[in-house]
Amino acid sequence: MKLLIASKNRGKVVEIRALLGLALQRVVEVVTLADLPDVEQPREDGKTFAENARIKALHYAKAHKILCIADDSGLAVEPLGGLPGVRSARFAGAGVTDAANNAHLLHELAPFARPWKAAFVCVAAAALPGRVVAEATGKAEGEILPGERGRDGFGYDPLFYVPSLGKTMAELSTEEKNRISHRGKALRALIAEMKAAGLLLA
Ligand code: IMP
Repeated sequence: MKLLIASKNRGKVVEIRALLGLALQRVVEVVTLADLPDVEQPREDGKTFAENARIKALHYAKAHKILCIADDSGLAVEPLGGLPGVRSARFAGAGVTDAANNAHLLHELAPFARPWKAAFVCVAAAALPGRVVAEATGKAEGEILPGERGRDGFGYDPLFYVPSLGKTMAELSTEEKNRISHRGKALRALIAEMKAAGLLLA
């Protein structure tokens, strides 16, 4: 049995593999887009994380005729009215670095008084060719710091402070981050749903 993680984002793939766990990966061969022949990318033109997660899961399930999981995620910042939201990956422009997005975020927040409350949101979807078979959402609350802290994780992690832990997401190990993160919550619920539906061996 094979399962495709539909992402090329190395940070995401590391987290999702850890969430799937070794026991499951002994019976299910987990592959990523990097392991399969290149196919055209879908247009992620949904207005919500859920729409984009479904678009990606359906697209790659069909293209590679495989059970596929995809996530769409991003940062919603309260003083910015929920931005960057579905534009999180390209907040400072198409194809920019994480550092450029982080700098742009701090620039946009500068006029507002702190604390800068924010939440990471993730919707994970699973699909077989032609149909979505499971979907789940996860959210992690925190605040944006005025400067980066920590070297782990990816994206906005060095700016995202988790008050209950006194650390940014970039100061957590993969396991610690997965315990409290938007992606951890969404993927755990998705995997449970897939197991209950008999799509993954329990
Ligand atoms: P996606 O690949 O279209 O889902 O874009 C997700 C974007 O949201 C990433 O490129 C990051 O900028 C941001 N993001 C989502 N999840 C995380 C996370 O766990 N840590 C830091 N940034 C994240």
